[in-house]
Amino acid sequence: MHAKIAVLPGDGIGEDVTGEAKKVLEAVAERFGHQFMFTSALVGGAAIDAFGVPLPEDTLALCRKSDAVLFGAVGGPKWDDPTKPVRPEQGLLGLRKGLGLYANLRPVRLNPLLVDASTIKPEVLAGTDLVVVRELTGGIYFGARGRTDDGKSAYDTMTYTTHEIERVLRVAFELARKRRRHVTSVDKANVLECSRLWRETASQMAAQYPDVQFEHLLVDSCAMHLIRRPASFDVIVTENMFGDILTDEASMLAGSMGMLPSASLGEGTRGLYEPIHGSAPDIAGKGIANPLAAILSSALLLRYSLNLETEAAAVEAAVDQALAEGYRTSDLASPGMRVCGTSEMGNLVAGII
Ligand code: NAD
Repeated sequence: MHAKIAVLPGDGIGEDVTGEAKKVLEAVAERFGHQFMFTSALVGGAAIDAFGVPLPEDTLALCRKSDAVLFGAVGGPKWDDPTKPVRPEQGLLGLRKGLGLYANLRPVRLNPLLVDASTIKPEVLAGTDLVVVRELTGGIYFGARGRTDDGKSAYDTMTYTTHEIERVLRVAFELARKRRRHVTSVDKANVLECSRLWRETASQMAAQYPDVQFEHLLVDSCAMHLIRRPASFDVIVTENMFGDILTDEASMLAGSMGMLPSASLGEGTRGLYEPIHGSAPDIAGKGIANPLAAILSSALLLRYSLNLETEAAAVEAAVDQALAEGYRTSDLASPGMRVCGTSEMGNLVAGII
C-alpha cells in the first residue's frame, strides 16, 4: 500500500515521541511491504515562532492531502500568556475543525504488567478495556463567549445540533459492534438542555442497534463509576467538555499518560493520531519521554485510516513484548526493570517488528 502521512511533531516532547512513532511505521512498511511517504510540518508554538500563527495554511493543506496525520503535542511556558491572541492549542483546535474530525477515540486498555503503575487497586482494575468516544468539534469549547464591559461577568455557550450528536453516537455504536456490544451515553440531562437533546437522540439511535446493550449515565455518576467499576465499561460516548474531563480520569486507570493513544476521526478514513499527553516541558529534550503513547497512536493510524489491522496488531504486540522483556521509560520504572530512554524504546519496538 502507498500512503501519505503528515507528521506534525509540535512542541516539547511532541518532537521526541513523534520521531519514534515514525520509526515504528517505517519498520512496519519494511516488514509488510508498504510505502509510506512522510512529510513534516510545523504546528503550535513552533509555528508561532516561525510564522506568527499556530496553524499555517501550508500545514493544513498538507494534512488535507494526506491519508493520515501523526501529531505530537503543542504548548509550553514560552507561549503560555493567556492574554496573547495566538496560542499553540489553537493549532490543534484548528486542525480538528479544518479536517472535520468530530469523534475522538481514546482506548484505555490495562496492560497487566503495568497494574502497579496505577493508583487504583489491582482487583478493581482487572479486565479494564474501554474506549471513550468524545465529541470533538461542538459544545462549549466552540460556542460564543465573552465578558461584560465592566469585566465582572463572563459567559460561555454550549450548543449542539441533532446532526452533531447523531454522527458521533453512530461512531460509538459501530465501534461497540466490533467490541463487546455495550454503549454508555453520558450527559447531564437533569440540568442541561443540550444534554436532554443528547439523551433523546441517543435513545432513538439505540433503538436502531438492538444488538448493542445501552445505558444512559449522568456525568457525575460516570466519573464515580469509572474508578469504582472500570471493567464494566465497553464504549462510553459523550460531548466535548465531559469527554475532555472523563478521558483524563480514565487515563489514570492505565497508570501513565505516556501509554495512551488517541484517534480523531471524521467522515471518510482520514484521521489525526496523537498521544493523549501534552508537551511535558519539564522533561522536553532530555531523551526520557515515554514514546509508547505515540507509538500506539501509530497503531491506531494503521487500523483506522489505512485499514491495516494485522500491522496495527503487530505494533501493539511489539509494545507488549518490549514491556514483557522488562523495558520501561523512567515514568514507569520500578525496581528490577530495565530503564531506557525515548529513542532506545523506539528502537526496541521497531526492532521487534
Ligand atoms: P503534560 O501531559 O504535558 O504533562 C503532565 C505530566 O506528565 C508531566 O509531569 C510530564 O512530564 C508527564 N508526562 C506527560 N507525557 C509523558 C510521557 N510521554 N512520558 C513521560 N512523562 C510524561 O500536561 P501539562 O503539564 O498539563 O501540559 C504541558 C503543556 O502541554 C501545556 O502547554 C499544555 O497546554 C500542553 N498540552 C497539550 C496537549 C496537546 O497537544 N494535545 C494536551 C495536553 C496539554
